This record gives sequence, C-alpha cells and structure tokens, in this order.
Amino acid sequence: MPALVDELMSGDDAPSAVSSSGGGRPPGSSSLYPQQRAAADELAAALASWCIQAGEHIGVEAPRPSGLWWSAPGRKIDSETGEAYLVEAEPVGIRSASALTELVRWIDPLLDRVAAAPWAPEMLADLSRLDAGARARWAVEEPERRVQDIACPSCNAYSLVVTPVRVVGGQEQVTCSRISCGRVLSSQDWERLRAWSVLVARMSAKAEETSA
Ligand SMILES: [Zn+2]
Repeated sequence: MPALVDELMSGDDAPSAVSSSGGGRPPGSSSLYPQQRAAADELAAALASWCIQAGEHIGVEAPRPSGLWWSAPGRKIDSETGEAYLVEAEPVGIRSASALTELVRWIDPLLDRVAAAPWAPEMLADLSRLDAGARARWAVEEPERRVQDIACPSCNAYSLVVTPVRVVGGQEQVTCSRISCGRVLSSQDWERLRAWSVLVARMSAKAEETSA
C-alpha cells in the first residue's frame, strides 16, 4: 500500500507498473493527478483513522505522522444528549508517503490483536475497497497478472491470476491457473485474502525496505 501511495503521489514519474499498458494517456499526466491525489488522500486518511481506532482498542496511542493532513479540532453538539463535546483533529489526507509507511510499521505488529476486534472485518473491507479503488483510478489499464504473494487457498500454489478492474467499481476476476485446481475466487474471498496480504505481508516488507 505505501508503494501505491508513492505512485499515486508522484506527479510526473511514470509508475513502472503501468508502463506496459498500451496507448491512452501517459500515467501521471496532469489531468489524472488530482484524482490520484484524492485516492491517496482517501486511503491514507482511512488507514490513519483505523490506526487510531486500533490504538484505542488495545490501549496505546496511535502515531500521528506529520506527513498527514489533519482537520482542525472543534466543538460539536451531540444530537441525542444536547451536550457539547470536543472533536479531535481527524486525518483527512497525506502530504508525504512516509506518513503511510509510519502507520503501516506501527499497525503491522498489532494486527494479530486487532484481528479479534469486532470491527476488524470492516477495517479490512474498507482498506481493500479504497486500495482497489485507488488502483482502478490510477491504473487505467493493466495487463492480467500472476499473483506472486498470495497462494491459492485451494491448492496452495502461487498460481492465482487476476484479471484487473476495468472500470471503477468493477470487480476483479481471480482464478487459479492450475488446470488440476481451477479455483475461482469470489470477489469476497479475494478481497479477504488480498486485504490480509496487503496488511501483513507486502506492507510490512515495504516498511522494512523503506527503513533499511
Ligand atoms: Zn489452485
């Protein structure tokens, strides 16, 4: 996910992952940039919010990286009780991709404990939806790809193939390429698998790489 945000935030560097797409606008063209930025903002804000929730759940303070945009704190009135209360600053966007790396590094070792929380499935669904949305907005067209970091849940081989989202809101098709298996994953199955992978494996690897 940090890698994706890096790419979403890079204004004119062509992300390598889409260099193979034929035709169309070059990635990172100025007309795409605001949309990419919005996707990165949305993703980062969501992750930061979930980190705060995770922190409250396990009783530790979540990081507040300076590379995030925060809303101004303020006062609100509770519509049920009529009581005034203070609203803390909320994450609303991202200025520096390192902020996301910091969040990932923080939440990664806590995921086991967070997974038991009643809202954990919601968190995973939310993050993977935003991640997929960001990818869909950014990678207008990408080739079918072999999944290298997630094994097929049926035969355990690294044989899953993804036919990517063609339109925002469209669904990825994921199938096992081994003829003896041929498992077809529902979008729900795939989302879950991918969410875990994104949160546990790739994100932590990327965080380590960045800190090295
Ligand atoms: Zn399989």
